[in-house]
Amino acid sequence: MFQLNDFPLPFRETDLVPYMSVETVQFHYGKHLATYIANLNKLIADTKYADMDLREIIINSARDENAQKIFNNAAQIFNHEFFFNCLGRGGNTMVPDLISDAFGGAAEFKEKFKSVAGDVFGSGWVWLTYDNDKFEIIATKNADTPIAHGKRPVLALDLWEHAYYLDYQNRRSDFVDAFLDSLIDWNFVVSNLDV
Ligand code: MN
Repeated sequence: MFQLNDFPLPFRETDLVPYMSVETVQFHYGKHLATYIANLNKLIADTKYADMDLREIIINSARDENAQKIFNNAAQIFNHEFFFNCLGRGGNTMVPDLISDAFGGAAEFKEKFKSVAGDVFGSGWVWLTYDNDKFEIIATKNADTPIAHGKRPVLALDLWEHAYYLDYQNRRSDFVDAFLDSLIDWNFVVSNLDV
């Protein structure tokens, strides 16, 4: 059984204002993530997935055509924990050199990230991944997640409407800008390079 407490927020609900409202955090964490957890618990009860950790559930259900719902809910739990861990307002808004250098500059990194985000149609995620000493910015659709494809995520952006609609309505690109300029905890991002 998974519980919401297993995935604590690394910030207080008020910490992300004005870039992300308390209401958005409360719904996103307390309703959306909580529902994925409740759904997964029901779906895996009395199945081979019941004794697996979250990553094992994702890897195995991705290859199981009868486990699409299990995959969707498990991957969304992973994606949300990862996304929330990427958020914070520690005051460090600088793109780390290792990342900016890989894209020819901080502005170039942000432009590339925004371009990939702009191409997402419908619900999905944008990721910075790091494999074989190379960074890549990719999008995944719906619940899909880099770890199902053997890729290592280091930064995640939730582009489902529930992630931004209360605060930005149809202005999704403003949300992407706020994320890149003001919401990322780069210390967490960098910590993923060593895993
Ligand atoms: Mn979400």
